[in-house]
Amino acid sequence: MKVVLLDSKDVGGEILNTELIEDYPGFESVTGAELARKMADHAIKFGLKIETYKSVQEVRSEGDHKIVTLVDGTELSAYAVLVTVGGEPTKLGVVGEKEYHGRGVSYCAVCDGAFFKGADLAVIGGGDSAFQEGLFLTRFAKKLYVVHRRNEFRAQAILQDRLLKMDKVEPITPAEVTEIGGNGDVKWIDIDRDGKTERVKVEGVFVFIGFKPVGRHLFKEHIEHDKNGYLITDQYMRTSIPGVYAAGDTRAQLAKQITTAVGDATTAVLHAERYIEELKDLERAFPSEPKDVVAQTVSKAELQVFAPGDLVLKEGEVADRFYMIIKGEAEATQRGPDGSQIVINRFGPGDYFGEVGLLNDAPRLATVRAKTSLEVMALDRETFAGLMKSSQATEDEVRRVAAGRTRAASPR
Ligand SMILES: Cc1cc2nc3c(=O)[nH]c(=O)nc-3n(C[C@H](O)[C@H](O)[C@H](O)COP(=O)(O)OP(=O)(O)OC[C@H]3O[C@@H](n4cnc5c(N)ncnc54)[C@H](O)[C@@H]3O)c2cc1C
Repeated sequence: MKVVLLDSKDVGGEILNTELIEDYPGFESVTGAELARKMADHAIKFGLKIETYKSVQEVRSEGDHKIVTLVDGTELSAYAVLVTVGGEPTKLGVVGEKEYHGRGVSYCAVCDGAFFKGADLAVIGGGDSAFQEGLFLTRFAKKLYVVHRRNEFRAQAILQDRLLKMDKVEPITPAEVTEIGGNGDVKWIDIDRDGKTERVKVEGVFVFIGFKPVGRHLFKEHIEHDKNGYLITDQYMRTSIPGVYAAGDTRAQLAKQITTAVGDATTAVLHAERYIEELKDLERAFPSEPKDVVAQTVSKAELQVFAPGDLVLKEGEVADRFYMIIKGEAEATQRGPDGSQIVINRFGPGDYFGEVGLLNDAPRLATVRAKTSLEVMALDRETFAGLMKSSQATEDEVRRVAAGRTRAASPR
């Protein structure tokens, strides 16, 4: 398959904003720049085309394809799109914040906290993130200030109890940071409390006043997201739009880490490959079916895997699924008068079975077992009915095949 990676900046994302990474397996300590370069070189070696400084403006569906429009007006067309645009931590917007980013100003305690052993630190924010990350920072901080612009914190009570009861933790409220300063590294923050400016000596400022995932803004059509704007996926990283996957920081999940981003992407890519194969198989089998219906159908399909000899469906059972073979072979048998199994059909890649029982609302006429390792796409009753309804030619063809099979399987 042909794959292109588009990035509006240089390749590497947030890793490039990280001085040292010390929690990526296999790399005891590596600079963000080096890890990003190694990842890119590795992917290029396996054939990935990387286009840097190509900013995506919009993604829309057209039939079974996604049309990706770049800011420069170029359009690309793909069967599947994996969204890994991450997000942006909300910035304080004060003097010194940009200058000291990476030199005392951080937006990730888990990532950078360990660099501040024995230091006085400040957490800015009053929500769950600020408190969770603040708790993490207490492992390293000598003193931890929690600066929040309101008197009340929004964080869950249990988090507040755990953090604020520690001797080393001191809340400063209601207060707003007005400036961050130092001499090459952060040494202090100025805060405004009750109209007066106070200088607080700290070596690290951890800002958690929000994170804005940016993925959903790329889509013209609705894409499911949670109340904070993170894209919702299933366990295969599928979003609500067929053929669109999400991975990493832009996805609704617990951790925002390199390991989880890489893991998400692995799952997404493996599934996307299958999705494209299934799409093509279904289009070949039902050429008159509208392409967008095929994409919808495949996105609802369940991938099932069988070992040689495994039972897929059993004669006499209630019919509840339609199957199409992606890989491998299967065999249909029927019980003969003497109880032995008589082979009545063989199926290979692209063949379908299970339609007779669904169309006639009748028990299975035959038993189907995997003859080799078998991968099938299974459609439930409702999805199969939708496929039949959307094209008369498809329904006629499936009914014709079903009638032939019914005759072949009639009691002998
Ligand atoms: C300061 C800091 C330190 C960190 N340290 C660590 C650490 O030590 N260990 C760890 O595991 N994690 C760390 N993290 C978190 C980690 O960097 C992220 O979890 C990870 O980078 C997420 O990867 P991602 O691909 O989802 O998103 P990102 O890394 O955010 O990458 C998104 C990419 O999408 C591109 N993009 C955005 N919009 C568009 C568009 N419209 N068109 C084209 N391209 C676009 C961006 O340019 C960017 O390259 C740190 C984060 C920060 C901010």
